Amino acid sequence: MRDVSVLIVGAGPTGLTLACDLLSRGVDVTVLDRQKQFATTTRALGLQPRGRQILDRLGALGDLRTTVPLQSEFDVYLNGQLALHVDLGTLRGRYDDGVLRVPQTEIERQLRERLHRLGGEICWGYEVVGVCEEGTSIRASVRTEEDVQSVNAKWVVGCEGAHSLIRERIGGHFDGHAFPQTFLLGDVRIDPKCNERPAIYLRNDQMLAISALPDRRWRVGVALPSRDPHHPRSSLASTTAEERILPEQILAHLQHWFNEIKGDRNTQFYDPSWLSQFHIHRRMSSSFRHGHMLIAGDAAHLTSPLGGQGMNSGIGDAFNLGWKLALVSQGKADATLLDTYEEERRSVVDKLARATTQWTSILLGAGRINRILRRYILLPMMRLHLVQGWVLSRRPALQESYRGSSLAPRWNLINRLIRRGPQPGDIGPDVHCEVLPDYQLVTLGTLINAHWALILFGIREKPAQLCANAAKTLLGTSIRVIRVTTKSHHSAAGYDQIVRDYRRELTRAYRAGRNTAILLRPDGHLASRSNDRDATTIMRWFDRVPGLHLPGQSTHRFKEVRSYE
Ligand SMILES: Cc1cc2nc3c(=O)[nH]c(=O)nc-3n(C[C@H](O)[C@H](O)[C@H](O)COP(=O)(O)OP(=O)(O)OC[C@H]3O[C@@H](n4cnc5c(N)ncnc54)[C@H](O)[C@@H]3O)c2cc1C
Repeated sequence: MRDVSVLIVGAGPTGLTLACDLLSRGVDVTVLDRQKQFATTTRALGLQPRGRQILDRLGALGDLRTTVPLQSEFDVYLNGQLALHVDLGTLRGRYDDGVLRVPQTEIERQLRERLHRLGGEICWGYEVVGVCEEGTSIRASVRTEEDVQSVNAKWVVGCEGAHSLIRERIGGHFDGHAFPQTFLLGDVRIDPKCNERPAIYLRNDQMLAISALPDRRWRVGVALPSRDPHHPRSSLASTTAEERILPEQILAHLQHWFNEIKGDRNTQFYDPSWLSQFHIHRRMSSSFRHGHMLIAGDAAHLTSPLGGQGMNSGIGDAFNLGWKLALVSQGKADATLLDTYEEERRSVVDKLARATTQWTSILLGAGRINRILRRYILLPMMRLHLVQGWVLSRRPALQESYRGSSLAPRWNLINRLIRRGPQPGDIGPDVHCEVLPDYQLVTLGTLINAHWALILFGIREKPAQLCANAAKTLLGTSIRVIRVTTKSHHSAAGYDQIVRDYRRELTRAYRAGRNTAILLRPDGHLASRSNDRDATTIMRWFDRVPGLHLPGQSTHRFKEVRSYE
């Protein structure tokens, strides 16, 4: 096998997202997967708003946005009675209006197609069986059907799921716990035809969830407490293949629990396309990197699938890591920049896992206190429209922020009191604007994709031009400089786009003032914002990034920016 810059182990959603990101930045990448071909089992069912945004930015969303329904509503039943109706559609925003109800197979297919369009390839049937560090590179041993080969890479990223070999090699302890419940899951056809909304049925500490799949099948899942009399405890709790119960037994259990919990004796399941039993875990690796080896996705952390976050957080890891690893592998930053990957993702995923664990425990009614909370506080409160809107709009999947990281120091109290709007570390809002000269209505995200972006509001022409020049000298074509105006005409010289913010949507979303400049990182998070007339604060951010040494980066450049005075 040929030597590569970055070797990605695992062609799941995390590895594929990372590969697309790196390839789009011109990095030489190879993806290996031990399976002979891509997986055909549905697994995750739902692309969260942030996951959708990331795939869109990478050009990997394909036609999913228009061909796949958004799941914005679902019902919750408690002891057979409708206890709650949830409607995400009442929330505003391009991406926070629901979950795209698409199976993981389809998401992976879109990512593979994007990867091929970018000139990348996946080597199926290549299992990484060993890795060792040799100076500043890694040698991986790869087993194929025919032989064991070696491949040298500058960097290896383990995206090979929960049983990660790279995690072992970097010495990461997979600390955490398993939930006591056993989960059974089936993608089945239903007779008589079912026309329900997705629903969750709760009864004591048992849970049944049902949701439509695109192929007219239904995803049916049950969570059973381990003391349940119908729970074949010894076999379900085991992990070895021989001890697992047979698929037909899973189908029979699903059928039994569907009829019991839902109180429906007529419905019959048939023609399953996937049956599975599993335990869920909350775990996080004690380290995400050692030298030139990194891990991402399920290899680094596991959360309850009930939050619908596992795959989505892996996609988030890849988008955070991609631009940093590209800079490092291209010699524009040293490895200390990669420390910010673990710093930022650990805190976000930890918050997400905490919230998901709390919701999972309350929903599953694990213990009397959780059942009381569920029945008398959570469900009644969530019935209140205002409370529901507030809780849903604050769900961690949307609030992902790196505030306080080394790349986004927290604002001091005075700044927080005076300034408002998105802070460094937050995801830059994506809103509509009109592109001049032909007034085409687009979203900011489609102008930026996965590039750096400098957005200049107000600021006088001379300093704005100087700032744009400095940004271009530093980052060339990898930065989009966007000048925001409320007028109908503006000279485009020096800028990539002139956008007219006629309805002031953009100005409001960023709480921009007369001299606001916003710098967005390639993953769409705010790097910095300034309100200076000369916009120099923005450019100084690059000097504070650990390990960054872009060609031409020097304080001298930022003096030039001020030289108009
Ligand atoms: C039933 C179920 C429902 C779920 N529902 C959701 C949901 O609604 N939303 C959500 O976000 N998540 C959900 N998840 C979680 C989601 O499926 C995972 O989090 C996601 O697949 C993780 O992606 P990954 O790329 O990190 O790892 P994986 O998808 O596990 O991919 C790892 C890849 O690495 C390969 N590999 C492993 N070892 C090696 C090796 N040594 N050499 C080469 N290749 C190797 C494997 O063959 C595999 O292709 C669900 C999971 C399950 C099981």
